[in-house]
Amino acid sequence: MSQKNMRNIGIMAHIDAGKTTTTERILYYTGKSHRIGEVDNGNATMDWMEQEQNRGITIVSAATTCYWKDHQINIIDTPGHVDFTAEVERSLRVLDGAVAVFCAVGGVEPQSETVWHQADRYEVPRIAYINKMDRTGADFFEVIKEIREKLGAVPVPLALPIGKENDYEGNIDLLLMKEIRWNPDNQGETFTISDIAPERQELADEWRESMIDALSAYSDEMTELFLEGEDVPLELIQKVIRQETINRSIVPIFTGSSLKNKGVQPVLDAVINFLPAPDDLPPVRCHHSKKDEDMLLERDENGPLAGLIFKIQQDKEAGPLCFVRVYSGELKSGTAVMNIDKKKRERVNRLLRMHSNHHEQISSVHAGDIAVVIGMKNAQTGDTIGSEGYPIILEKMNFPDPVISVA
Ligand code: GDP
Repeated sequence: MSQKNMRNIGIMAHIDAGKTTTTERILYYTGKSHRIGEVDNGNATMDWMEQEQNRGITIVSAATTCYWKDHQINIIDTPGHVDFTAEVERSLRVLDGAVAVFCAVGGVEPQSETVWHQADRYEVPRIAYINKMDRTGADFFEVIKEIREKLGAVPVPLALPIGKENDYEGNIDLLLMKEIRWNPDNQGETFTISDIAPERQELADEWRESMIDALSAYSDEMTELFLEGEDVPLELIQKVIRQETINRSIVPIFTGSSLKNKGVQPVLDAVINFLPAPDDLPPVRCHHSKKDEDMLLERDENGPLAGLIFKIQQDKEAGPLCFVRVYSGELKSGTAVMNIDKKKRERVNRLLRMHSNHHEQISSVHAGDIAVVIGMKNAQTGDTIGSEGYPIILEKMNFPDPVISVA
């Protein structure tokens, strides 16, 4: 799969906002829409995976791959706790974009602020999903206000809830200017689209205008059309949203209820439409260990191999599973690579791709992608693997100053 069709994302949330429920819904819908690679299970028994399987679809691995509309989405597990740890930092470092989940009742809580600012520091583009619209006390517009005031972000709602609490029905899609209702009989897999009801037209027009107005700040073409009172084409709106989300000037806002299976698929659409592909991002900051100088590495599939080991999980049968994010070049199974930090040669016995309820053996993994390496003996998280002739280090262990947690 080319880098253009790949996304590496995290799902960030204050505890209890619905990160687990939302992730499960994402894995459910993506599993339904695309079942590929379900056959090759290799020979190792993954005890921890099997246990998890009995409990249904859930995220069990540091990076789980799913597919949505011809795109590969790697969901990187972002630790829920807000302590400033190397683990949190590392998980933020390897993702290219994030979905921030907020509770429609709790809004922006102190913990969400901390996590948000950590993501700011790692320059992670974000979309936001205001969950739990079905709960008593849900207030979509109050959460928007808090995102603006407490987080200092520029929220741009692309959806509005229709009703709330027990009467939460579905959303107004402000790009299509249609109402969408998910079908409760099949876990929201299907939905109906209808015209905006007359009593909601004024509200929809108002928010649509405020969306175009906000986006016009970044596009002369849009400003011109807006001022002339002409329709702005959908393609142009989407282009500006994508560009400014990646620039981190705006945060597109979605809403729904993961528990009631409403509003999750548009978030998946937004992940592929608005969050960056690996090669949309600037070159990677790293350090050339022989020359002892900092440098920028192009995200090139044909470049020298450079991958970061960002997590190691133990498996009884297979030994250490090293999760690697490849930034440049290609990592092949059955070859030898250098652990640059340890100055040791290591063997890539096998490469695996982890899915929500199975794993798949693969022969190689390219720049932009994530895989598990089996066979490395001396690896530690934070190490770079690469080639002997090109000894660069992706992560130097001098993290930025800690963020003070107010929670
Ligand atoms: P996490 O701590 O962020 O992973 O949150 P969970 O996904 O575990 O959800 C916390 C609680 O909120 C659980 O009891 C969920 O069932 C509930 N929950 C999650 N999403 C929704 C929702 O959309 N509506 C309602 N009413 N409850 C939800």
